[in-house]
Amino acid sequence: MNDSPLHISRRQLLLGAAVAVPAIALTRLPAQAQKFGQQGRDAAPYGVAPLPYAYDALNDTIDTLTMRLHHDKHYAGYTKKLNVAVSGYPDLMRQTPQELISNLDALPEGARTAIRNNGGGYVNHAMFWQIMSPKGGGAPGGAIAEAIKRDFGSFQSFQTKFQIAGENRFGSGFVWLVRDGEGKLSIMSTPNQDNPMMQEYGGLFPLMGNDVWEHAYYLKYNNRRGDYLKAWWNVVNWDEINRRLMVAM
Ligand code: MN
Repeated sequence: MNDSPLHISRRQLLLGAAVAVPAIALTRLPAQAQKFGQQGRDAAPYGVAPLPYAYDALNDTIDTLTMRLHHDKHYAGYTKKLNVAVSGYPDLMRQTPQELISNLDALPEGARTAIRNNGGGYVNHAMFWQIMSPKGGGAPGGAIAEAIKRDFGSFQSFQTKFQIAGENRFGSGFVWLVRDGEGKLSIMSTPNQDNPMMQEYGGLFPLMGNDVWEHAYYLKYNNRRGDYLKAWWNVVNWDEINRRLMVAM
């Protein structure tokens, strides 16, 4: 199989712009074609997008080695395994990772768990890099600031609730700010590489999420997840989160 992580299509660069899509009827290749897989570039449809800043750009909050391992090993690993999971299923290879994880029930059973874990890992991390910035931090402005004030009372109240949800996630997972179909914001957390857009969470739109897997913070913060969650506000990219809110709307 042609595993070419540096091939990045425009579609991949727009991955932050997830949209709800109808379930797509799935067909499988004949057994012979599955056995040998799809030849050519479509055999590895999903690429590893580079970080939008240097590995050391967030160093005061997230150390350089953590960023290198997290991006080049963990995220790249999810991407590689997602490509393996969809190989042999041309109908799946034509979908974005967001489409795949939004319709897990429609996936072939043999591919479903691998796509849930690695498609989730792909989507979660593609967002995670973008919603951080060395120019981030501070209080939000724009529409997200208004929506947070409306639904949480104040930015401080929102931060406290987000922090507690992140600390209380047992084991590995993510803590999220999500928007429902009526536009209301709420905080939730999910285990492993699950994502709020998965059907069992109600297909909610993730506006932002923090990675609370130990690989995200352990080198610098050791067991002190709460300190990591607190420091993380210094790199939150509110411009990107406002952009995601516009996409959701
Ligand atoms: Mn991670």
